[in-house]
Amino acid sequence: MNVNANSVWSDCLKFIKDNIQPQAYKTWFEPIKAVKLADKVISIEVPSKFFYEWLEEHYVKILKVALQKTLGDDAKLVYVIKMENTFGNSHAFTEKIPSSNSSSILTQNATTSINRSVPELKNPFVIPGIKNVKVESQLNPNYTFENFLEGDSNRLARNAGIAVANKPGGTSFNPFLIFGGVGLGKTHLANAIGIDIKKSYPEKTVLYTTAEKFTQQYIEAVKKNNRNDFIYFYQIIDVLIIDDIQFFSGKPGTQDVFFHIFNHLHQNGKQVILTSDKPPVDMQDIELRLLSRFKWGLSAELQKPDFETRVSILKNKLYRDGIEMNEEVIHYVAKNIKSNVRELEGAIISLIAQASFNRKEINLSLAKEIIEKFVKNTKREVSIDYIQKIVSDYFQMDIPTLQSKTRKRHIVQARQLAMFFAKKYTKASLASIGSQIGKRDHATVLHACKTVDNLSSTDKQFRKFVEDLGKKLSV
Ligand code: ADP
Ligand code: MG
Repeated sequence: MNVNANSVWSDCLKFIKDNIQPQAYKTWFEPIKAVKLADKVISIEVPSKFFYEWLEEHYVKILKVALQKTLGDDAKLVYVIKMENTFGNSHAFTEKIPSSNSSSILTQNATTSINRSVPELKNPFVIPGIKNVKVESQLNPNYTFENFLEGDSNRLARNAGIAVANKPGGTSFNPFLIFGGVGLGKTHLANAIGIDIKKSYPEKTVLYTTAEKFTQQYIEAVKKNNRNDFIYFYQIIDVLIIDDIQFFSGKPGTQDVFFHIFNHLHQNGKQVILTSDKPPVDMQDIELRLLSRFKWGLSAELQKPDFETRVSILKNKLYRDGIEMNEEVIHYVAKNIKSNVRELEGAIISLIAQASFNRKEINLSLAKEIIEKFVKNTKREVSIDYIQKIVSDYFQMDIPTLQSKTRKRHIVQARQLAMFFAKKYTKASLASIGSQIGKRDHATVLHACKTVDNLSSTDKQFRKFVEDLGKKLSV
């Protein structure tokens, strides 16, 4: 055992855990062991070649970031594959971070080392001023229309997306707003439109970004006194895709700058594509003038896929991954995982992974075992709205009462509990939690979280509230 390797790896894991779905973390990162650290090279042991390929395909970026954070820019990663049947030979795959574009394969006796090129993480915010700056579109190449299966739940949105892609800026769907719950395909569809446009109109500048990134860049720009550069940069984009605009709520400065950019793009016939977890009518703390702009175009909803669509999504995914699975098993998974496509994919991945680790055949009984565990372990992402509803139901009050300005103790406590759970179960910032729970500021939320912590260690009754609510929220 190497203490140093372990501590470096556990720092990486902490970062990774915060940035991926809990189920994915459990499946793909918990089984890894750190085996060696020599200078800036860390070796990790993975259970199979399949496992290695999966990490490379899906997690190379986050691994890179995590390693560079802990070991510095010249960090390197070596995979050691544990091969059950090969008389103790291990195959090591090395990866240079960062590396050149060429890739070469060297084969030695028992060890194969591959110097791969790792995709560079590019910042979409290129300071302009230089003519003809090439903007990296930041699109995810896997999220194509071809891979976005059509069903009743998404027909309107998908077809409107195709129309936008055929004539960016030239339809009345501008802006085009895709909304719907978590894991229903908003990011995928938004990317598909961008990819299609790049294909048919290579000269157009397409940019995909998230509302969160946009906000961070804006804050940075204000700090560095180049707000104008920021605006200018976004105004030269032909097709601007902003994902998860609910993140703009409660951020008037960012909304204001987005409003100006939006108007400029719109007036110049440029296409704007937005996604959000709720329809415009339900958006909180978004300025009216911005909300009214969203209504200029088309809002299309992504709903939960029905059984048939779930089956075809699963089949398509298996086909693309080159995995065969019996119809009965596919139907079983589709029948039992209904909430969203991301979970559907997660379940099938766990199933494939388990079958591959244990060298078991994927049959119905394995599927039952895995899916049951999967459903139990998957924490639903909860929204602040949902938390407020559960807490106010529990205390038999309505949401306006929970949010009211009163100082009545039981209401104050209910509100503090809602804030506490919002901090615990969502990724929202203190400020955003405060603004959604009765328009309080971040200090109030912080105080609420501390109060709940204190009370639950000193007051038995209160601890019971925390436990009960925790249970209700974690199913
Ligand atoms: P959201 O952004 O709405 O949370 P995503 O776009 O990230 O959801 O989708 C979650 C996962 O489900 C992605 O891997 C995506 O490829 C997949 N997915 C969603 N809808 C479909 C669909 N109609 N066909 C195929 N895959 C889909
Ligand atoms: Mg998304």
